[in-house]
Amino acid sequence: MLNDFQIVMLASGSKGNAALISTAKQRFLVDIGISCRALTTRMKEIGVSVNELDGVFITHEHVDHVRGLATFLKNYQVPVYSSVLTWRAILAKDSSLVRQNCRLIDNNRLLCGDLEVQSFSIPHDAVDPHGYTFTSRSNGSKCTYLTDAGFVTDTIREAVAGSSALVLEANHDVEMLKNGPYPRHLKQRILSTLGHLSNDTAGHFLTELERLPEHIVLAHLSEHNNLPQLAQDTVQNILQDNNRLQETELFVAAQNRVVADSPLPAVLDLK
Ligand SMILES: [Zn+2]
Ligand SMILES: [Zn+2]
Repeated sequence: MLNDFQIVMLASGSKGNAALISTAKQRFLVDIGISCRALTTRMKEIGVSVNELDGVFITHEHVDHVRGLATFLKNYQVPVYSSVLTWRAILAKDSSLVRQNCRLIDNNRLLCGDLEVQSFSIPHDAVDPHGYTFTSRSNGSKCTYLTDAGFVTDTIREAVAGSSALVLEANHDVEMLKNGPYPRHLKQRILSTLGHLSNDTAGHFLTELERLPEHIVLAHLSEHNNLPQLAQDTVQNILQDNNRLQETELFVAAQNRVVADSPLPAVLDLK
């Protein structure tokens, strides 16, 4: 399967999410859930300037996905896309938002150069949450971004099918969550159909796919109810048990450091 995409997780987890999805010609962010300052610092670390971005896609209005958005819109001239309902929810919380670069995605579909970007609905306790697929119009190579989903719907199955690169939520280990420090209502929220995908659910969903993406990045790991090694081992064991492990390469995103699925360009030392 052709894979034209590079995924760089700038930050991922319950405290803030931002991912850079690039092809040789284009660069997009998904979510700005860390402060704008942290975002620019991490982008500088990998040698990419904010002004090189072709656009930003927002999945939903939860603060761990939009924390740096207001400052970003004030400081940069980069179009930021989301659904009308998500924009309304964001504006309801911050009416002073600079709206000049706030854009809508008509009919869940947007053409950007060689890429077709499609948004798809996901089950989560936000107003109008979405995942995104980026598909090359010249060769069909496809990258899908999916976090913050309570369960795997047919819409999700359809979106993820045929992906050559995939960001997939592996939020929690069910036992760690059940025995962990969270209050009962929060545990119920996370386990509900509008909550988050567990390591197990992520792994079993992958075995449903006819072909596995070349690269899979496990993302949005809970700080209290998961461990990077546990997420990786759980998904790896499920794939191994189904004799599918050799089809893919697994990565695990982190909250406080950049994780990339392929080598980053050399960073210039400007000091
Ligand atoms: Zn959320
Ligand atoms: Zn989230």
